[in-house]
Amino acid sequence: MFSEDLGRYHAGEDVYDEAGTPVYAMAEGTISYSGYAYGYGYLITIDHPDLDVYSLYGHLSTRRWKKTEGTVNKGELIAYLGDEDENTGGNYTVPPHLHFGIRKGSRYDYPGDASDNRFTAGWTYTHPANLGWMDATDFINVMTDISDISEQPSLSPHTFELLPNYPNPFNSKTTIKIILNEPLTVNLNVYDVNGRLIRSLVVNELWQTGIYLVEWDGRDKSGRLVATGIYCYQLEIDGHRKTRSMILLK
Ligand SMILES: [Zn+2]
Repeated sequence: MFSEDLGRYHAGEDVYDEAGTPVYAMAEGTISYSGYAYGYGYLITIDHPDLDVYSLYGHLSTRRWKKTEGTVNKGELIAYLGDEDENTGGNYTVPPHLHFGIRKGSRYDYPGDASDNRFTAGWTYTHPANLGWMDATDFINVMTDISDISEQPSLSPHTFELLPNYPNPFNSKTTIKIILNEPLTVNLNVYDVNGRLIRSLVVNELWQTGIYLVEWDGRDKSGRLVATGIYCYQLEIDGHRKTRSMILLK
């Protein structure tokens, strides 16, 4: 997140997938922009007043169907990823991917079209955090309130690690990697963006030092396939929690 290139900062997350991959609204809201934007090809923004953020979806397909206005539900189809020749709108191409940004307030809070502050900004000279852009993971933590790491620090933070899941986004299953540098009792849970427990993958298991791979098949505790969207997985060990987000796309 917020990586640097050629003196600029990247203000979102890039999620690479094939052209034509469906793109879904990450939460309930109202489409505040749906149209061409330089550098993106087709762009959609959705205002989420309940969350006091807007979400931005760039490099969408112009030729394929897309939603142009109105309200959306969480997980609703809004567009498809663009082909190489249509996903920047400029005379250059990038591989098909979704540029996904989350920013405080509404897109109307960021008027203008030429400055770092414009609502469509994907790369900025000012650090994105100073422009209201947020890390998707932090955002999910704020929303789900499962990030309270203010517990007593009896464990070194390097005692265990939670790595990014692979693949991400995923379609049918994904693998979560955990590293333990000493034997520990492990809990691993999956939550939705509203903080509801979706599935307990590991419950109070004593694991020895080592590297562990845990699969999630996109099913809840009743065995039902869950909806497309963003989910968090949280590793909890001795009161210490580490959380990451993942995206299920169907
Ligand atoms: Zn990007």
